[in-house]
Amino acid sequence: MQVPAPFEYERATSVDGAIGLLERLGDTAKLVAGGHSLLPMMKLRLANFEYLIDINDLHGDLGYITFTAEEVRIGAMTRHREIAESAELLAVFPIFADAEQVIADPVVRNRGTIGGSLCQADPAEDLSAVCTTLGASCVIRGSGGERVVPMAEFHRGPYETAVGTTEMLTEVRFPIRPYAGSAYEKVERRAGDWAVAAAGAAVWLSSEPRGSRGRTDSENDGHDVVLADARVGLAAVGPNTVEIPSISAALRGQTPSEELYARAGELAAQNCHPVTDPRGSADYKRHLADELTRRALRRAVQRATDQVRS
Ligand SMILES: Cc1cc2nc3c(=O)[nH]c(=O)nc-3n(C[C@H](O)[C@H](O)[C@H](O)COP(=O)(O)OP(=O)(O)OC[C@H]3O[C@@H](n4cnc5c(N)ncnc54)[C@H](O)[C@@H]3O)c2cc1C
Repeated sequence: MQVPAPFEYERATSVDGAIGLLERLGDTAKLVAGGHSLLPMMKLRLANFEYLIDINDLHGDLGYITFTAEEVRIGAMTRHREIAESAELLAVFPIFADAEQVIADPVVRNRGTIGGSLCQADPAEDLSAVCTTLGASCVIRGSGGERVVPMAEFHRGPYETAVGTTEMLTEVRFPIRPYAGSAYEKVERRAGDWAVAAAGAAVWLSSEPRGSRGRTDSENDGHDVVLADARVGLAAVGPNTVEIPSISAALRGQTPSEELYARAGELAAQNCHPVTDPRGSADYKRHLADELTRRALRRAVQRATDQVRS
């Protein structure tokens, strides 16, 4: 039986209280949210802490999904299940529905949190890849106040983040832009497993008067559909989930097409850094980065196009 080393247990009742405990106990202490990443690591003795600070009582303060015209805000204690069941969120960002369907199992999704997922900084973490794809920002709070860190700077390496030992992640923010579509594609060895490789895509469309680019879209009422912007985020093919800026540069301003998705797939394969491990060879993962990028982009564009037409 796997048993963690002995530890003391504290229960925080407020965000300030949790930060106060972290300041008092220093790096001998660790926050525990859903516990689905931290506790397995402690049972395997890959991580040992003298104190665990349970933040589940903060779900009332940090378990929320709120909307304005400009952004979505998700509290750090929001659980996978709550994300998967938020019809309003899934309508704005269908990529969450795709990802949550393939994360673990109901037991994990009932307890695991978005904050824990991001702070675990596992290179294969699906919600990290979603946040990377959507260009999210992370709100980190300490006794000195709050700071907002873009996803590109949040992960500092495998299992390392920008959150200091006396700070906590409180919220993740997602910008909303019109005519958007998003999708997530993952290959796993068996249902609920971590990704062999995964790709997220987010696109934003605009339309130009028909023929202004020398081609037409007969289904789109006098206008050609153009990619105003696009982002691709990859998981499990490098030290952290990563966005590929060269894909955005190649896609921006272009008319969506199979050739364009193929070019994006090539760039994904060229710009990722997979390693051979029990989940697959580096070459196989590079192939997946290519294929899954094409599929995610194709589906994201289809969803955005449906929105433009509705
Ligand atoms: C069997 C199994 C299968 C899984 N499969 C998948 C999968 O396919 N895809 C996937 O993406 N994930 C998978 N997971 C992980 C799951 O999604 C976890 O819920 C998630 O990784 C961590 O969330 P948590 O709330 O449980 O975090 P915890 O385990 O409680 O914490 C993880 C880390 O984050 C820190 N932390 C937590 N909250 C905060 C905060 N607010 N501020 C600062 N630090 C914080 C903790 O101190 C710890 O270091 C799986 C887990 C299990 C057990």
